[in-house]
Amino acid sequence: MSGPVVRFAPSPTGLIHIGNARTALLNALYARKLGGTFILRLDDTDRARSEERFADAIKQDLDWLGIPPDQIETQSSRMSRYEDALAKLRAVGRVYACYETEDELERKRKRQLGRGLPPVYDRASLAMSGEDRAKFESEGRKPYWRFKLDHRVIKWDDLVRGEIAIDTASLSDPVVRRADGTWLYSLASVVDDIDMKVTHIIRGEDHITNTAAQLDMFAALGGDARTFAHHNLLTLPGGEGLSKRFGSLSIQSLREAGQEALAIAAAAVLTGTSLAVEPVETLGALAEKIDFKKISHGPARFDPADLDALTAKTLHAASFASVEDRLKVLDVGGGEKFWLAVRGNLARLSEAKEWWEVVSAPMASKIADSDRDFCKLAETLLPAEPWSEKIWDEWLAAIKPVANRKGRELFHPLRIALTARENGPELRALLPLIGRARASARLRGEKA
Ligand code: GLU
Repeated sequence: MSGPVVRFAPSPTGLIHIGNARTALLNALYARKLGGTFILRLDDTDRARSEERFADAIKQDLDWLGIPPDQIETQSSRMSRYEDALAKLRAVGRVYACYETEDELERKRKRQLGRGLPPVYDRASLAMSGEDRAKFESEGRKPYWRFKLDHRVIKWDDLVRGEIAIDTASLSDPVVRRADGTWLYSLASVVDDIDMKVTHIIRGEDHITNTAAQLDMFAALGGDARTFAHHNLLTLPGGEGLSKRFGSLSIQSLREAGQEALAIAAAAVLTGTSLAVEPVETLGALAEKIDFKKISHGPARFDPADLDALTAKTLHAASFASVEDRLKVLDVGGGEKFWLAVRGNLARLSEAKEWWEVVSAPMASKIADSDRDFCKLAETLLPAEPWSEKIWDEWLAAIKPVANRKGRELFHPLRIALTARENGPELRALLPLIGRARASARLRGEKA
């Protein structure tokens, strides 16, 4: 028995944001944890709004987040499967042609709302006589198609929300095909889930009512019911949703702003659960934390301002192996020793470059006049090479008895002389990386 088959099914009509990443990560990591398959399914039946560049951006974002799909599917290449399904449903009387225009439907809805009724489709087209149909057809009206719900209470045991029961009599029969022949997600998604043998449908709670209708479609098409998990949606602190237009929270812009993929993953998965939102060292560790029962039933309030701290903490704990390739791209050398020396001071990985320059490239002196003599004295006390890991302590032990300085007065000028920075990683770790020749010249106030 192989692991679960899951899918992330975005429409390539825009960039994905951190709220979409929540769905993608919950799917991908659930599959990873249980040795399953993660499918990226591009819901691109809306040909007018779907764009190749958004499909590419979504793939790039998933790769960057560390969850490249095991399989990629597109609905646009599966039209004949939807035709087959429609024919099958038609043969058993589970779809029917409808002739209302958008305006007529809108007027109906308004009338119902005006009378205090829910705007549920009244099945007027289903009740139409053959003659009326023929009349519409002769006028050139093309039908659109609805799935005829079997009015009953549909129940499922949701992995997040427990038992859910929805009476399909309270729902409109879902439109499955428009008059122009295009398909709607409602049926296409069920056909795909059957064909692709999807076992777990993990998606946002905004799809709960769709699930009742789709379970009815699964049954009508002879597919088994799937397991569902409807997670809460990320919202901003004030409760507003993260619309796709919220450009600054797109995965692309977060990447460009230097946020760490692992920090975004931790925020996306852990916010709105009973677990603490804290950094993780690997996606595998994050996958281990996934437990649908720990996802809250209320909204998942997410403050974008928290990402900076999460990115910093992620870097502070990052192993050298996990950043080695990216440091190479930044042209940062120094190996693991350098990384361990500076990681605790980074807010963004790119800052490692500045510290690499501090230890490896010539820099102008910033020693204050009042500290020149002290720095020169300290220079004469620099131990001879070879330097061990203890060099900083040995040097200080030599300086202290003769310098007549302590605390900040002692350390700050040395920091300025050696790094030309007010703050930074511990000098204990930096000094061996700077090396004796460069340290000596810098202490003498030379550009080195
Ligand atoms: N394209 C749908 C969406 O993005 C997919 C929903 C689903 O996972 O079934 O909301």
